[in-house]
Amino acid sequence: MSAPDAQEMHWDGEADLIVVGFGGAGAAAAITATELGASVMLLDKAPFGHEGGNTRVAAQGYLNTSTPESATAYLNAMCGPYPVSAEMVAVWADEMCKNNAWLSSIGGDPQEHQHQPAGIEFPELPGADCVHKFHHGNVLGYSKTWEMLAEAVRARPIAIHYATPGKKLITHPVTQEIIGVIAECGGKTLRFKANKAVILTCGGFENNQEMIRNFLPGVSYCFTSGTPYNEGDGVRMAMEVGADLWHMNNFAGPSMALKVPEISTTFSMRALHFSFEPAGGMITVGPDAKRFTDEKYKTHHGKVHRNGTWAALQTPCPMHMIFDHTMFTSGPIYEGNASYGWTQLMSGYVWSQDNRAELEKGWIKSAPTLAALAENLGIPVDNLQGSVSRWNQMAAEGQDTDFGRKLMMSSFDAGPYYAVELSPSMLNTQGGPRRNTRAQIVRPDDTPVARLYSAGELGSIYSYLYQGTGNIGECFAFGRIAARNAVAELPWE
Ligand SMILES: Cc1cc2nc3c(=O)[nH]c(=O)nc-3n(C[C@H](O)[C@H](O)[C@H](O)COP(=O)(O)OP(=O)(O)OC[C@H]3O[C@@H](n4cnc5c(N)ncnc54)[C@H](O)[C@@H]3O)c2cc1C
Repeated sequence: MSAPDAQEMHWDGEADLIVVGFGGAGAAAAITATELGASVMLLDKAPFGHEGGNTRVAAQGYLNTSTPESATAYLNAMCGPYPVSAEMVAVWADEMCKNNAWLSSIGGDPQEHQHQPAGIEFPELPGADCVHKFHHGNVLGYSKTWEMLAEAVRARPIAIHYATPGKKLITHPVTQEIIGVIAECGGKTLRFKANKAVILTCGGFENNQEMIRNFLPGVSYCFTSGTPYNEGDGVRMAMEVGADLWHMNNFAGPSMALKVPEISTTFSMRALHFSFEPAGGMITVGPDAKRFTDEKYKTHHGKVHRNGTWAALQTPCPMHMIFDHTMFTSGPIYEGNASYGWTQLMSGYVWSQDNRAELEKGWIKSAPTLAALAENLGIPVDNLQGSVSRWNQMAAEGQDTDFGRKLMMSSFDAGPYYAVELSPSMLNTQGGPRRNTRAQIVRPDDTPVARLYSAGELGSIYSYLYQGTGNIGECFAFGRIAARNAVAELPWE
């Protein structure tokens, strides 16, 4: 074996740890490592003001489980037919109980959600009583937990490089250990040295349509309501150094939402949210112009209960939400006031109060008759007329005998009629490089890739069912675990 040459050992900067991705997991790892005395360099792909990833625009809840015993039972039950090793579950269960203590220790103010907004997701499962959802401060949403974390990072001597995506991991030519990261900034290629380790915290593949086609079940495309900067880079970088993958087929979705070319993230429709009931007639149809679901069903992060088991909501594309003039004139069809979501908090788009601006842009389509609307959309005229008249009949009788819908039971008025195209939308993916109990990224044979760690939704522990607030809770837990073990490494030089 030959010694590394001078070119290979040229560096543009260095730190004990390089953390790739400044979201919740990156923040937890960077803060913990700094507390333990390590020097940390934090890279983010997004420019300043857009960092924070999904954590920034999440609903801001994080899980702090009550006891390791009930948390173990609950996670095992959620994994169901996609089991995760007992050792991994045990480490998760042990660390997830410590999130509040940790947040308090760095200046946070853990407050339990008052009304458990989305409730305990699977209350029937053993151990479900472990679920306790928290956020920082008195206000839930509006990036509040994220802002507290970001301030804690900025208050520490952590070198943050914005608009500097990690591109490739640097492997020591002799030992094969991970010794740094190749990144890009302003068109320049930079080589950053990690004296102890690299921690990948750069999120999932929500914006990588090829990975979506390859890995996510039932969707040939899907868009996100989270950050546009998560493009599966961490999955690719880890694969290049031999990582095994897990949970690539699990994601927090799909829901149905509007995606337009001008905006990178999705618009959620008020009428499709179980807690809003705008006036007027509304159904969703698939390419055959027929209904395929209870439009108001409250999914469990995209999963619906079918035939005695949980499976992803079916999304026959292209889908359309068809609605009447009463709904069109009853206020904005977009749920723009939500306290979370990239479109709401970051895109800057202000939806018109009367939906007219979006009609003019062609985001909403309209026609005087259902036949003309169907022709415009390219879906079968007879089927659309049949779907609406069947809906009207069931609405008049107050019973959806096809899909059991119970909300917004209004029939359609006499027109004009409207449509928006719906795409599958998700919050986040769960898959990525497999990690072990020390948060090391491992190969298919279970051996760790030396000096390479991960945390957060990039290879999260969730294999099947998902409990809301579990992702940010896991960012904190595995961010700390990764940092503790990475700091304990001896420098490679
Ligand atoms: C609308 C919405 C609501 C949600 N609500 C909740 C909730 O209330 N509770 C909960 O637990 N979960 C929630 N989730 C899920 C949760 O937000 C995420 O799973 C979690 O925040 C992921 O954190 P992370 O640090 O792993 O990744 P992220 O927070 O996504 O951070 C990844 C960071 O990596 C950066 N990055 C990407 N590629 C690179 C690269 N090549 N180099 C450098 N940087 C890179 C990105 O810019 C980003 O800043 C929600 C998600 C969404 C979209």
